[in-house]
Amino acid sequence: MTATNEPSFRESVDLMFNRAASLMDLPPGLEEKIRVCNATYTVRFGVRLRGDIHTFTGYRSVHSEHMEPVKGGIRFALAVNQDEVEALAALMTYKCALVETPFGGSKGGLCIDPRQYEEHELEQITRRFAYELAKRDLINPSQNVPAPDMGTGEREMAWMADQYARMNTTDINARACVTGKPLNAGGIAGRVEATGRGIQYALREFFRHPEDVQKANLSGKLVGKRIVVQGLGNVGYHAAKFLSEEDGSRIVGIIEWDGALYNPDGIDVESVRQWIVKHGGVSDYPDATHSADGAAVLEAECDILIPAALEGVINLTNADRIKAPLIIEAANGPVTAGADEVLRKKGTVIIPDMYANAGGVTVSYFEWVKNLSHIRFGRMQRRQEEARHELIVSELERLDRYLGDAWSMSPDFKSKYLKGADELELVRSGLDDTMRIAYQSMREVWHNRDDVEDLRTAAYIVAVDRVAKSYRAKGL
Ligand code: NAD
Repeated sequence: MTATNEPSFRESVDLMFNRAASLMDLPPGLEEKIRVCNATYTVRFGVRLRGDIHTFTGYRSVHSEHMEPVKGGIRFALAVNQDEVEALAALMTYKCALVETPFGGSKGGLCIDPRQYEEHELEQITRRFAYELAKRDLINPSQNVPAPDMGTGEREMAWMADQYARMNTTDINARACVTGKPLNAGGIAGRVEATGRGIQYALREFFRHPEDVQKANLSGKLVGKRIVVQGLGNVGYHAAKFLSEEDGSRIVGIIEWDGALYNPDGIDVESVRQWIVKHGGVSDYPDATHSADGAAVLEAECDILIPAALEGVINLTNADRIKAPLIIEAANGPVTAGADEVLRKKGTVIIPDMYANAGGVTVSYFEWVKNLSHIRFGRMQRRQEEARHELIVSELERLDRYLGDAWSMSPDFKSKYLKGADELELVRSGLDDTMRIAYQSMREVWHNRDDVEDLRTAAYIVAVDRVAKSYRAKGL
């Protein structure tokens, strides 16, 4: 747990912001304007369940409206509080600027343990929360567009979108009021996997730059790298699955709420996930050593540590014992400002949350655009693209016949080349491009400025500079 003398999550974000701002040349007053949270709405509402009225507390915080709509997930967890929601909203502002999605930053949360409720009860609670937010334009396609976060997913987003549509029966763009919806309710292919996929693309891009890999005292590519992941939820599961199945990395540790699994030979991510679905946790999983003290496995020997669960898990109480030379922050705020300082001095390279987990908001952006354009990506071009490819292939086949044995097409070339891109391929391509370009913009500052020691400061400098330019363009 976080040491008591450490700053809160929001103060931690502000400290990291200040560190970057001190290296920038922002006009007086603008720095303060960008840092502060514009508004936080607190709502307490009652829902009749099991014969009694239960009162719930929820928040929606808007950090910056330099671009609208503002964007950010809604979290369902008991620990949700105003400080946390404001910290997460601020991170959304910087994240959207860094990956160039045209949104301001927002975040929401409901104090609830979703595991304590039946599905129909959760639906009632979610719809009521959505009603409270929508009637104040805190859910609205052109003003504030929520998405999933911890404890929420496609199901909750579908309820929220439907609630908004019921309240705005003539709004032709109603579906764009939240993202992360199921495909049959206006969602987009690849949104569920997007944040984990983004972690994979971020690591691939990092390993394309040998100087950066060397800064982390590592060498080579992702293949064979030993990874510990904390949290096998949406983000952690997809990241660990793709990295082990597609990049040849070895998942040696998995930390969950009920302890950790460790196996130096590698753990089968899919089979652990199925175990969790069936048994609720990782305890008693047969093919790895289980330890009840999950957090201790954060300190295990590995090449890459992926905290993908909660904030503040790497703090002043354990930072000096973290052995991983490379940390990629899949969760928001897993490293406190104090721990960040300790790790920086140790030479640990941290790929910061603001960049690392931006895959979710990037694909949410694609979903929002899809909803506003009312057409699936690729629907107009796919067959036309295939027809043009067919022309080339038939020409090659003519050549093939003419040249005889001297030349022939490789066996799977034709089927691969002929296939036009579907929505999923287009989404992955857009995400990959976004993750590569954003990494390059960060590393340019990291390498070119002597006063910038780490990727986090570089990320803040790129993001804050863009937000500042937006405000200036508005005449502030
Ligand atoms: P999730 O609810 O799907 O998964 C969280 C996982 O962490 C669960 O498996 C849970 O059992 C586990 N967990 C809970 N307490 C734990 C503990 N003490 N130790 C270890 N594991 C624990 O949530 P998610 O959507 O995967 O989000 C995880 C993090 O990623 C959050 O910080 C969230 O803000 C961030 N994030 C999520 C998205 C997204 O698209 N879902 C996008 C950006 C950032």
